[in-house]
Amino acid sequence: MGLKIEGFEGSGTFEKGVHPPGRKNFSTDIPIEVIPTPKKVVLPMSQHIGAPCASQVKAKQEVTFGEVIGKAKAFVSAPIHSPINGKVLKAANVTLPNGRRVPAIPIKAEGDQLEGKALMDEIFGGDWSKDCAGKYDPKAISDAINDAGIVGLGGAAFPTHVKIMPNEDKPIDALLINGCECEPYLTPDYRMMIEFPEAIIAGSLLAGHAVGAKKIVIGIEDNKPKAVESMEKAAAGTGIKIARLKTKYPQGSEKHLIMSVMKRKVPPGGLPIEVGAAVSNVGTVAAIAGAVLKKKPLTHRVVCVTGAGINNPKNLLVPMGISYGELIDFCGGLTKDAARIISGGPMMGFAFADLSTPVTKGASGVTILTNKDVKKADETACVRCGRCVDVCPLDLVPSKLAVGSRNSNLDVVQKYNIMACLECGCCSYTCPASLPIVQLIRMGKAMVAASAKK
Ligand code: SF4
Ligand code: SF4
Repeated sequence: MGLKIEGFEGSGTFEKGVHPPGRKNFSTDIPIEVIPTPKKVVLPMSQHIGAPCASQVKAKQEVTFGEVIGKAKAFVSAPIHSPINGKVLKAANVTLPNGRRVPAIPIKAEGDQLEGKALMDEIFGGDWSKDCAGKYDPKAISDAINDAGIVGLGGAAFPTHVKIMPNEDKPIDALLINGCECEPYLTPDYRMMIEFPEAIIAGSLLAGHAVGAKKIVIGIEDNKPKAVESMEKAAAGTGIKIARLKTKYPQGSEKHLIMSVMKRKVPPGGLPIEVGAAVSNVGTVAAIAGAVLKKKPLTHRVVCVTGAGINNPKNLLVPMGISYGELIDFCGGLTKDAARIISGGPMMGFAFADLSTPVTKGASGVTILTNKDVKKADETACVRCGRCVDVCPLDLVPSKLAVGSRNSNLDVVQKYNIMACLECGCCSYTCPASLPIVQLIRMGKAMVAASAKK
């Protein structure tokens, strides 16, 4: 790896990984727009990693914007709030983009709603204090994050209060904020850094104070110079540093961000806290600022609707529970040659077909690919070229994991540490035999999880 980047221990990059085309041009320069309130939202009671929520409402009950709909019943969980004023409909089951069927609470919109600029101002507007973090007790910050139902908005959907809390046994000296957005096509984090940098800085200071971090660094890939400029301006005088990192996938993965900025290696299967670090995403810390400074629960998020298969790509502020179909309609519908709809981006996302699927907290966008984009060679047998091993950023052996998963061989997949795989897709991207390595690994992981329950 290269030399150190100025002011940091790391070199701004990590070993292995790939360089897929960014394809951010569809939506990167389009300002965030507020989508009109839909007639109905459907709120899955499981929008996060951890225990599902328990419904707090009954059919026909009237609810208001921000009211708790699902209550967290475990430490690793996050409550769910209504993004609209309305009336609760009969509970139902919905299918998430990853294929999981989960209970959900539908709410029909009724009465006045916050719309357009008023809604944008409610969530991201106003003054974001840069000097008040020290006035809060760290536990109070973590509690406010918990009450607001904040989870990792970069896609992981891990409850944020669990990460952002004081830990005397394992002190954290550095908070890293992920502004890389290395996944092709996706642009919500970029737009947040351009349009709402002050909220990101305020949330970073609050999160850093909560974990006791001595330094806070925002990592941004060097193909986003306007975002670097915007964040540097907003961070002036706060002590927060901006690290320009190499454009490389998966630069935004927690472990690789830590390596790039701090040259610390998180052990296989380990967590950032084991090397004294905590990692959050720019959208997540902006939500933290809202939760602590404005007492606002997480009801909306920014998503992009992008790709050559959508008529009018956009970045949108949307309520949780709106359907992907409504996002697509609002963006002018699919083009004639649209071929695949992906929740997220093409490297880590899930292709799905049911457009009634609701948007959840971890959904960063929807990418619509065309026939030309998805045209691919037929799958052939593994030619043992080793390219998947050469690019795996976690030093796994993807070919063994794929074969073991395909053959339902629990011993092989466990021997080759399948659960450490972050499903980044570098192996599939590079495989000349077009093997669906990540899909096979996901199957293998499900097999391991099922065997653990027996
Ligand atoms: S095995 Fe997992 S971590 Fe390694 S390249 Fe493939 S998807 Fe990424
Ligand atoms: S890249 Fe594909 S063909 Fe090459 S070793 Fe890996 S699985 Fe086999």
